[in-house]
Amino acid sequence: MIDGPYDCIVIGAGPAGLSASLFLARYLRRTLTFHHNSPRNEYAHGVHGFLGHHGIRPNELLARGRDEVAAHGGLIIEACVHHVEQVSSEYFRVRAGSSETEQAFTARRLLLATGLRDLTPDCPGFREFYGATVHHCPDCDGYEVRDKRVAVLAHDKNAVGFTANLLTWTRQITLLTDGHELSTSEREKLARLEVAIRTESVVALDGDTSAQQLQRVIFAAGAPLECDALFFNLGTELATDFHETLGCLLDPECGLVWVDETQQTSIAGVYAAGDITPQSQLAIVAAAEGAMAAIHIHRSLTPKERQI
Ligand SMILES: Cc1cc2nc3c(=O)[nH]c(=O)nc-3n(C[C@H](O)[C@H](O)[C@H](O)COP(=O)(O)OP(=O)(O)OC[C@H]3O[C@@H](n4cnc5c(N)ncnc54)[C@H](O)[C@@H]3O)c2cc1C
Repeated sequence: MIDGPYDCIVIGAGPAGLSASLFLARYLRRTLTFHHNSPRNEYAHGVHGFLGHHGIRPNELLARGRDEVAAHGGLIIEACVHHVEQVSSEYFRVRAGSSETEQAFTARRLLLATGLRDLTPDCPGFREFYGATVHHCPDCDGYEVRDKRVAVLAHDKNAVGFTANLLTWTRQITLLTDGHELSTSEREKLARLEVAIRTESVVALDGDTSAQQLQRVIFAAGAPLECDALFFNLGTELATDFHETLGCLLDPECGLVWVDETQQTSIAGVYAAGDITPQSQLAIVAAAEGAMAAIHIHRSLTPKERQI
């Protein structure tokens, strides 16, 4: 392990963090990346729409990424970061590990790439089908449900828009509000789009668990809904509160970490990339943001006389 301060500490080794780490290592920057193994898409069967790697298993994509970073001299530590702080105008300190093994590391730049946590349905059957026939991202998995019978579990202000988006791929859609009421205007919009509605509470998802094929949704009352897939939209939350500790502003529209066009947050020297920032939540977008962050972190560390 390198002694002394790092040029950059990257927290999170998903597509955003690893892509940044690879570029930083290729810029010969002393980079330390924290890898704590629970990427957002760990339940996905394959990463869809990642050019050249469409369908690759998430764990394989990340394992290859870690190997590529290590092959370029980047250091990756498997540990959970539990504290970050700015110790001077020039340096940040990160603490990682358990109370017995805790270590502190300093760096001139920080990249937050810790991702989001999805709020998921808590009904029986959810885990059995998640990632195979139960999804949250139409951009990622809409193509796979072309012309299929799709249930949509959503009940906040985005429920109608989320449902309408899925009409790109199928007309056979039923919105499940799980006991929540819809407004008259929402009902009218859904009627115009010919989307069926079920308002009863959802109690279980059922189907062929060995094939991970969802077959029906069971309600507290009324007949089960036969379907081939379910999309849910119950919201997300930031995986850590490091942005808060450091004082980074959030984007007022979406509540994610605000960044400028260089991926720098409102705190000088702290960058953010991937799902925690306001762009589309796709693996390839996260990787691209990580690369952009690395380019600008490298530039910010380059002496003024060389910035010609
Ligand atoms: C079920 C599912 C299926 C998906 N399918 C697709 C798809 O088909 N195509 C697509 O493009 N996108 C897909 N996505 C979205 C895609 O996974 C995300 O956009 C992408 O993973 C975001 O990358 P990220 O690096 O920002 O965050 P993440 O991949 O979430 O990585 C963040 C990393 O930071 C780590 N971390 C968090 N806190 C700490 C800490 N304190 N210390 C150390 N490490 C920490 C986490 O453990 C994690 O490994 C899917 C998402 C889900 C949930």
